[in-house]
Amino acid sequence: MIPSATKTDLKNLTLPDLELFLRGKGKERFRATQIFKWIYQQDARTFEEMTNISKSLRAELAEIAFISQLEPEAVEVGSDGTRKYLFNLVDGNGVEAVLIPIEGRNTLCISSQAGCAMGCEFCLTGTFKLTRNLTTAEIVNQIMAVKRDLAGNPPTLPADGGEGRGDFDDSDDSDDGHQQSPADIRNIVLMGMGEPLHNLDNVIPAIKIMIDGNGLQFSNRRVTVSTCGLVPEMERLGRELPTVNLAVSLNATTDELRDRIMPVNRRYPIRELLAACKGFPLPGRRKVTFEYVMLGGVNDTLEDAKRLLRLISDIPNKVNLIPFNEHEGCGFKAPTRAAVDAFHKYLIDRHVTVITRDSRGGDISAACGQLKGRLKGG
Ligand code: SAH
Ligand code: SF4
Repeated sequence: MIPSATKTDLKNLTLPDLELFLRGKGKERFRATQIFKWIYQQDARTFEEMTNISKSLRAELAEIAFISQLEPEAVEVGSDGTRKYLFNLVDGNGVEAVLIPIEGRNTLCISSQAGCAMGCEFCLTGTFKLTRNLTTAEIVNQIMAVKRDLAGNPPTLPADGGEGRGDFDDSDDSDDGHQQSPADIRNIVLMGMGEPLHNLDNVIPAIKIMIDGNGLQFSNRRVTVSTCGLVPEMERLGRELPTVNLAVSLNATTDELRDRIMPVNRRYPIRELLAACKGFPLPGRRKVTFEYVMLGGVNDTLEDAKRLLRLISDIPNKVNLIPFNEHEGCGFKAPTRAAVDAFHKYLIDRHVTVITRDSRGGDISAACGQLKGRLKGG
């Protein structure tokens, strides 16, 4: 028996990778599709369950491969129905994912790294530095674990139905022809812990598994990758996965401020970042989402709104305003409601699509920038 450290975790493999892996063992190609479906559509955890595969092949596979799982160590449910999951990784690190139900449509925000190397001043994850990249399996397993939880404990709809549509709902593509149940995950956003573009080697295969028709079957228009602005990696993402949605955390409208609050800007200043956004291959009528964390008294004036509009106006855009979520040990303050409303109105009046994110999950520290997981070493 090979010890599991040398066995292959099949959840690290895309379907073409699995075909190659099996071909290397002399197996037919169609076996890969069968096994892939067992893993992602039946949530199989062992080869024993794969009843359309011969006993001898199942035994052979168990010798060389395994199917990893993530179990949530804790699930917290906020007063607005937001659920925060803490996942225990094999090495003792922990990462978080957050499920945000809006009008019975669930957006799942997943992590791509334990910690983050980008060091943005306002972000709690960033203060923990990078502990390590998540594997492809750990990224897709967050989704699978939440699906399992939802199947067992579907959220109940709040009586008032919540406010507005989800940030990542495409209004021109209502339901893809199938009924949504409260136990379905509609949108996946890589906006949890970590900088996904700093871990593309594992993030790209994970997204391929998410959007594979034999895999997790998400529509590519429902998967969004958020970046602080790693320009060469944005180009790679556009080349390798031209159909996913791009969100860019802009957060400042001058290099002077952005250099200070987002160190990545010293490497890729605003002009280069916007050129990369412009060059991103957006299918159809899709837009780049610009995230803008509003820091009280720092970047929340109408002058900022005016500069923001000027910067993004030649890129198909929508804007997510995120009032800063305060956390301990960080000097920034939340903006006033009046500042948020005035900023929002300035953009709306000029026909920009704007969503101001209400601070969902705040009572369980699940809001943007409040995820800390549990990090060892690093
Ligand atoms: N690393 C990626 C994705 C994870 S961060 C990125 O930076 O885009 C997800 C979003 O949370 C980013 O837009 C970031 O600017 C925002 N954010 C970080 N800390 C925050 C805080 N304390 N309050 C509100 N938003 C925050
Ligand atoms: Fe990393 Fe994003 Fe936080 Fe910046 S905002 S430190 S890139 S997780």
